[in-house]
Amino acid sequence: MPDAPPSLAELAEEGRGAIAAAGSTAEIEDVRVRLLGRKAPLTVLKRSIGDLPPEERGRVGREANQAGAELAALLAERTAALEAEELDRRLATDRVDVTLPGDPPSSLGSLHLITQTRREIEDVFVGLGFRVLEGPEIEFDFYNFTALNHPPGHPARMLQDTFYLSGGDTPPDSPPASPGGGPPETPQASTDVLLRTHTSPMQVRAMEAQEPPIYVIVPGKTYRRDSDATHTPMFHQVEGLAIDEDITLADLQGVLLAFARSIFGPEREVRLRPHYFPFTEPSVEVDISCFRCGGTGVAPDGGRDGLCKGSGWIEILGAGMVDPNVLGFVADRGYDPDRVQGFAFGMGIERIAMLRHGVPDLRLFFENDVRFLAQFGR
Ligand SMILES: [Zn+2]
Repeated sequence: MPDAPPSLAELAEEGRGAIAAAGSTAEIEDVRVRLLGRKAPLTVLKRSIGDLPPEERGRVGREANQAGAELAALLAERTAALEAEELDRRLATDRVDVTLPGDPPSSLGSLHLITQTRREIEDVFVGLGFRVLEGPEIEFDFYNFTALNHPPGHPARMLQDTFYLSGGDTPPDSPPASPGGGPPETPQASTDVLLRTHTSPMQVRAMEAQEPPIYVIVPGKTYRRDSDATHTPMFHQVEGLAIDEDITLADLQGVLLAFARSIFGPEREVRLRPHYFPFTEPSVEVDISCFRCGGTGVAPDGGRDGLCKGSGWIEILGAGMVDPNVLGFVADRGYDPDRVQGFAFGMGIERIAMLRHGVPDLRLFFENDVRFLAQFGR
């Protein structure tokens, strides 16, 4: 004789035990299906109530509903308890480290093209044995002009070119600067603090701080009263200075050739053209062979190459042999013009960046339009 089907009381008892024994939300879900699902004994029993003798149907139906309601309530209670336990466990173990980058990491932006270019230039000269120095942007007239052989009355000393921070116009009630009551010979003679107009003041400062030999470059901001498509009131330069024994113009050309090939490609050539700067003698302007037309001056379409204006050469910087008069200001630091000599150069970082990347307008660097800046992100 087969076992009798379990009674309602037995089903309810077994259900209560299974609910209490479930150890996770996954297990309690299995228990729910087993106790109240379509094939659960209680469900089967309810469906068969119609087969019972009529006098038993009411009692069995009521008891089955009571048992089902009790089990459903116990399931809900146990499920809530298990969910709460699991949440507590997750909170205790799965701590989120809010200092980690997001997933995927959000973009942090990139270095400004001027900064990238400055660092590349620094890398080239560090590789050639130069040290990188920085200097004050607020400078004395002495270092910016006087010690760099700018004679009194030099146009660069005039108010229309230079931002002076003290002095400026000679006060109307100040005594005349020249004996005899005539106009002062140098109207700016009393102005001694300014925003440096070039990075060259660091030539003399560096030599004051270090005896020869000296090999330094000085990147930094410079200021002039100019504003148009090719001039901004603030811009960046890199100064270079090399003083040693037996340095010639050929050393300057070799250093600049190495620089040009590092920045503009291994095929580049440089040429020096005579020029004039107050603090170098002789002075030169330095051209590199055009990297777009390969120095031919001819564009791919057969016309004139606009970048080099058909010449095959592009001017990139000014340079020269340091004037002995400049060395005279630091002669007591060992810079005897009869024993040591050297070269200096200065280049605009914006110009290098514009040439390399085809930037048409200097002002784009400082308008901070993200659409422009993001093109150079890396
Ligand atoms: Zn060209």
